[in-house]
Amino acid sequence: MIKAKKSLGQNFLNDVKILAKIVDLVNIHNKPVLEIGPGTGNLTYYILKKKPKKLLVIEKDDVLANNLKNKFNKQINILNEDVLNVDECLLCDERLIVFGNLPYNISTEILSKWVTGINNKFWFNSLILMFQKEVADRIIAKFNTKNYGRLSILSNWKLNIKKIMDVGPESFSPKPKIKSTILLFTPRNDFHKIKDPKNLEKVTRIFFSHRRKMLKKPFNQVFNGNQKILEKFKINLNLRPQNLEYDTYYKLTQEYEKLIG
Ligand code: SAM
Repeated sequence: MIKAKKSLGQNFLNDVKILAKIVDLVNIHNKPVLEIGPGTGNLTYYILKKKPKKLLVIEKDDVLANNLKNKFNKQINILNEDVLNVDECLLCDERLIVFGNLPYNISTEILSKWVTGINNKFWFNSLILMFQKEVADRIIAKFNTKNYGRLSILSNWKLNIKKIMDVGPESFSPKPKIKSTILLFTPRNDFHKIKDPKNLEKVTRIFFSHRRKMLKKPFNQVFNGNQKILEKFKINLNLRPQNLEYDTYYKLTQEYEKLIG
């Protein structure tokens, strides 16, 4: 009997209807697939039923990785590593389809790593990921809403995002205290070119440092009151950070990069 480790966010999905639904979201037959944090292999089993071309899995927990090896043998390739240390671009020469019921404590870190790590070449075709609902709500939030913020701007920069469904605690063992949400991400080919993602992170960090305050102060901090930029993007400095659309932040970052040279 496997004892779930809280420190590794181990809540195993055991709802057969949801497992079957997840692997039906995209066609994986004869396609290369990557699963993050397969745990006890519940989703792994459903992925294999669809006969992918190959299945790579990344599992940090040594006991679970060993258990998966015994269970699935040569049907899967196991990387017993921390996903945050893996360079996914090196895993396959074709674009992967990625599944993951992510460990909640590092889910935003994983997504940020993937978004900021993509240069001009995507290493995946789709990401089907489960997040804590509260985090998913921030990822998909549109401007002018209370959940809109840095995570929404970063996630929507290079990805199209579709909410699939919420999943209740009763679908997992052990039961988490919170609801979860499945999101489907696909590459956005028309994304705004930014030289260094750190600049997008910097601009949004400064703009969202005081959510309830007007834009005047952060704008002046980043752009030193530059009137041309204000006029170009028709920004009203009496608005608040959540009133600017995603695209405005990407364009402002491009302007910032021009200023710093
Ligand atoms: N996919 C399984 C399921 O749905 O039943 C398990 C999901 S559980 C929420 C998260 C899994 O990610 C666990 O198996 C855990 O050991 C693994 N994990 C946690 N941190 C990890 C990391 N940094 N790198 C790789 N795997 C990790």
